[in-house]
Amino acid sequence: MKFTDEAKVLWDQLSDEDQKAWTSNIHCQKCRTGIEGDKFNASVYEGNLALFHECICGNKEVRLIDVTMQDQKAIDDDFEAWKQAKLKARAEKEKGQA
Ligand SMILES: [Zn+2]
Repeated sequence: MKFTDEAKVLWDQLSDEDQKAWTSNIHCQKCRTGIEGDKFNASVYEGNLALFHECICGNKEVRLIDVTMQDQKAIDDDFEAWKQAKLKARAEKEKGQA
């Protein structure tokens, strides 16, 4: 895996078990091709650890790991939807403060 410095710090906070869970037995959502756990590019997005992967079929996926809520094992494969929800939540928060 390739990590940004920031991402590496967050990744190291995960237990060995969790690291394994996030990188084993993974398949492309589109073509079901197995994804090698070491093919991820990890960076930090909105405070969450984000594992990016581009499949041989061209499908781009991201797995977001909220390291503060590991128990939830939240996986959000629909990055755009997640991003929209996040932006919307922020807009509403700002509106509330105005
Ligand atoms: Zn694929």
